[in-house]
Amino acid sequence: MSRPRDAVVRRGMRHILRAIAGEPGMFTLAVLASSVYGGMTVASAWVIGKVTDRVILPAFADGATTAGALTLAVAAIMGVAVLKIVGILGRRLFAGVMSYRLQAEYRRRVTGQYLRLPLSWHQRHPTGQLLSNANSDVEAAWFFVAPLPFACGALVMIAITAVALVLTDPLLALVGLVVFPLVFAVNVVYSQVMSPRMQRAQQLRAEVSEIAHESFDAALVVKTLGREDVETQRFGARAEELRDSLVAVGRVRGLFDPMMEALPSLGTLAVLLIGAVRVADGATDAGELVAIAYLFTLLALPIRAIGWVLADLPRALAGYDRVTPVLDATGETPYGPEAAPVGSGGAGLGVQDVGFTFDGQTQATLEGVTFDVPAGSTIAVVGPTGAGKSTLAGLLVRLVDPVGGRVLLDGLDLRRLREGELSAQAAFVAQSAFLFDDTVRGNVTLGADVTDQDVWTALRTAAADDFVAALPEGLDTRVGERGASLSGGQRQRLALARAVIRRPRLLVLDDATSAVDPAVEARILDALRASEEPSTVVVVAYRQATIALADEVVWIEQGRALARGTHEQLLAEVPGYAALVKAYSQIEGVLA
Ligand code: ADP
Repeated sequence: MSRPRDAVVRRGMRHILRAIAGEPGMFTLAVLASSVYGGMTVASAWVIGKVTDRVILPAFADGATTAGALTLAVAAIMGVAVLKIVGILGRRLFAGVMSYRLQAEYRRRVTGQYLRLPLSWHQRHPTGQLLSNANSDVEAAWFFVAPLPFACGALVMIAITAVALVLTDPLLALVGLVVFPLVFAVNVVYSQVMSPRMQRAQQLRAEVSEIAHESFDAALVVKTLGREDVETQRFGARAEELRDSLVAVGRVRGLFDPMMEALPSLGTLAVLLIGAVRVADGATDAGELVAIAYLFTLLALPIRAIGWVLADLPRALAGYDRVTPVLDATGETPYGPEAAPVGSGGAGLGVQDVGFTFDGQTQATLEGVTFDVPAGSTIAVVGPTGAGKSTLAGLLVRLVDPVGGRVLLDGLDLRRLREGELSAQAAFVAQSAFLFDDTVRGNVTLGADVTDQDVWTALRTAAADDFVAALPEGLDTRVGERGASLSGGQRQRLALARAVIRRPRLLVLDDATSAVDPAVEARILDALRASEEPSTVVVVAYRQATIALADEVVWIEQGRALARGTHEQLLAEVPGYAALVKAYSQIEGVLA
């Protein structure tokens, strides 16, 4: 039992050092300001003592005092008070800057990792968790920093008090020697009792936000299938757990907080009790006793600050522990040193002996896939569901890297290209088109500096010009969240225009026109091929009309490229291909 307890304290101390190392300048300034405050607090006790001795007691004795003595007393009290204010201001300001800078720095690191890490990593981590990592976990990790300089200043105050006590009266010093270690002992026990409860609460916070996120995302399913009650229950159950765990945290706090608060007051009481006897004996004088008693009452707040830091450390560790796996995650796409081959028009594409297996799976999704696509030609990739077509499409634009073999762009392995080179050469359009909550123009240009004329040309190629022209505000029409105000086929065509406007030398369409009717789909492919310098197009397709427009077809079955040829050749030679194409034509016919 003692080992994990030690670990909490040791890890907590290391976390404090991490915070200080992260912002040494701000920390030093805040501690300096806090020490000024601490010093002035002690000084104010000393001034009160001196004023008692020199002004108040003589005044009681004589029944009068001088204006000079009063002025001096007021000036001393005011001076100390002003410096104390400066100390508080500085401490709050610098501690705040330190805390928020650390939060900002770690938010940047976490989001930087989100951008760097590959798609496979994102697929393993729910969105709600990513949100809470970047938000509440980072916040929790550095929240304790705000009272940290105060707590360090309090240590200075306690040291000064201890010395003052010993110098004034060794017997009174004994009170300090009992109270201060007791404060630390209570705090250590507190953080150990609190730690697991805080961890649980932080975990539940993330889970609640995960469920909420998923439910909102699935609004359509929830509403149309009448799952409101079930979702409410699912959310409610976890929210109740969170509530219970926060209540448990509150109980512990409720027990320890008054104890922390009471200790310095009990110290004051003890000082007064023992001190009264000492003054009566003549071992110490009244002024000194008042000063020490006052010091004890003043120490109550800074001692609480130490408590705040130690109390928040378990939560900080819980948050930090949830953030570190993101910061330590590796697997970002490695880039090579080379620029993409210069050229206009389509790029030549080579797929050589490519194999791919998803993480944690034993069965390969793609195996020994080899084919080439001559520059400027259009190739249709056809195969049954689950054959590996989408996986292959992703490999062509380096969403993932092959486990074996190579993908070549104009003869150059994609892995040898510098960052940003491939995305300037190749564009990928997936079946589910994602639109931003922006205008049509914004969704097509994605902020690039392009003329409206180019936007219209791209829309025309994507057969989207007619419907955009009919929108109330044309290019300036806002499409709503995820393009909610458009039909599926319209969204797909905007996504296609977004790819086309970049004039990619390689265009990979993964069933990207599935919601567009066949005649329009054929028009789009025709337009893509008709330009002066046509892109190389790889299209994952099902419809005969689309496939027939391709120069050649690659037939994929169970992760292998089993045949390659023109549509007619494959119809004649590959029974599986003929059956699949026929089945789809029949469905199209029925639908038509
Ligand atoms: P297609 O596009 O031909 O329908 P996919 O390339 O989407 O096929 O999928 C090929 C196989 O890989 C399927 O068996 C599918 O279950 C599996 N698969 C796809 N994505 C993943 C993933 N992220 N993790 C594990 N397996 C996957």
